[in-house]
Amino acid sequence: MLRIEVWGGAGEHGRSCYYIESGDQAILLDCGGKKQAREMYPKLNPEKVRKLNAVFLSHAHEDHCAGLPLLYKHGYAGEVWMTRPTSRQLADFLSSWGQYAAQQTEGELADRDTYDRQAKKINKRLLEKAGGPGDWIQIQPELKVVYGASGHLAGAVWLLIQLGEHLLFYSGDYGGESRLLSATLPVLHGLPPIDLAIIDAAYSDDEKMQETCAAQIIEMCRQTIAQGGKVWLPVPMHGRGHELAHLLMEAFESDWLPFYCDEKLAAAFADLIMDTSWFHAESYAQLEASWKARMRVLDRESLQQSLASEEPAIYLLTDPMLQKPATEACVQAFKRHAAGAIIWTGHVYPGTKAAELLNMEMPIQLVQCRFKVHQGMPDVKRMLDHLKPKRSLLVHADHASIGRLQRKLEAEGWRQLYSLHQGDSLEIE
Ligand SMILES: [Zn+2]
Ligand SMILES: [Zn+2]
Repeated sequence: MLRIEVWGGAGEHGRSCYYIESGDQAILLDCGGKKQAREMYPKLNPEKVRKLNAVFLSHAHEDHCAGLPLLYKHGYAGEVWMTRPTSRQLADFLSSWGQYAAQQTEGELADRDTYDRQAKKINKRLLEKAGGPGDWIQIQPELKVVYGASGHLAGAVWLLIQLGEHLLFYSGDYGGESRLLSATLPVLHGLPPIDLAIIDAAYSDDEKMQETCAAQIIEMCRQTIAQGGKVWLPVPMHGRGHELAHLLMEAFESDWLPFYCDEKLAAAFADLIMDTSWFHAESYAQLEASWKARMRVLDRESLQQSLASEEPAIYLLTDPMLQKPATEACVQAFKRHAAGAIIWTGHVYPGTKAAELLNMEMPIQLVQCRFKVHQGMPDVKRMLDHLKPKRSLLVHADHASIGRLQRKLEAEGWRQLYSLHQGDSLEIE
C-alpha cells in the first residue's frame, strides 16, 4: 500500500511537504515555509521523520526548503537530494528565511542561532553526481528516481519516483512557458502507469498564457515610464527576476531607460553562469549580453538615493514581501514619486508588509500582475495528457481555487483528481 500524507502545501500556498510511505520505505518531497503566522512550517510527525529513507528538494525557494532545518531538529539524520544550482541557492534562501523567522514572535526555530545551527546539519546530496537528467538513479534497493528540468528556475526539477511497487510523479513548481529556462517531462515509454501525480496547480483555473501576462507587465511599465515615473518590481533572489530583466530589456531595447538591481540579484545572476545547461542557449546569450551592457548594480545607500531621484527607471529588487528593515527606507524614498508603480508579479502572502501596502491608499500605483512561473489550467491539462496518471493531487493554491479547477477539469472528463488540505492523507492499494 502507498500512503501519502500532506504535511503542507496542498490547499494552501506555501510550506510544500509530502510524506510518502510504501511498505517499510518512506520519503519526503520538499519541506517548505509559509510567511504566515502560526502556519510557518509543515506539520511534521517526529516519529515518521526518523523513519525517512530519503528527502528530495525540488528547488530552493523558501516555500519548499525553509522547513529543512526543522526536519533535522526533529531527528532526521539522512541526506537531502537536490541539484547543484539548488544546493548553491539554498544558503541564500535559508539565510533570508532565518532573518524573517527571527522577526516573528512565535513559532519554532524563532531564534536565529538555533535555525542556523539546524540548517548547517543539512546533508546535501547532488543528483547530478549520481546521474544525468532522464537517468534512473538507484537511491536504495526499493527506491529509484529520475529527474528533469521543471522550467521554474535554474536547478528546479520534477521527479519520477519508483518506491517499492509504486510509481509517483512530483512536478515540483513547474513552468512550461519560460523563454529562458528549458522544461522537460519524463519519458514514460515502457513504464507501468503512474499511481499518483502531485501536480503544481498554483494558478488554479486561470487560462492566461505567459504571452498575455508579459504583454500586460510591459504595458504597465510603458505607461508609468511615459508619465515620468519609476517602476519597482519586487522579485525573489533566484528565479523570475532575471527572466523579467530579459523581457523588459528586450521590450525597451532602443530606449535610454536605465535598469537597476540590488547586489543580491546581481550575485544571483553571476551564479547562473556556473551552469547554463538549464537555459535555452540563445535566450541566455541575449540576456547575458543585455545584462552586462545595461544593468547597473546599486548598493544599499546608492539604491536609496536613486529611488529618491526624479529619473524614470526600472528597478528589480529582492525582498518580494518587503519585510526587511532596509526595504522600509526604500519604500519611503519611492513613495515621494506620485507617478511611480510597484508591480508584484508573484504571490503576496497575507499579513506581510507587501500585503499591507497593497491595501493602502497611496499616490503611487500598487498592483499585482502575474508573471507565470507556475501552471494554470491549460498547463495542468497538458501535464495530465502526457502523464496519464491513475490519480492526481492538485496543489500549491488555496483549497477553494483548487476545488474550482478540479470541478472544471471533471466537467471536461478528467477523473481521480484530489484536492486535499494540510493534515489529510491518501491511501492507495
Ligand atoms: Zn518555487
Ligand atoms: Zn512553490
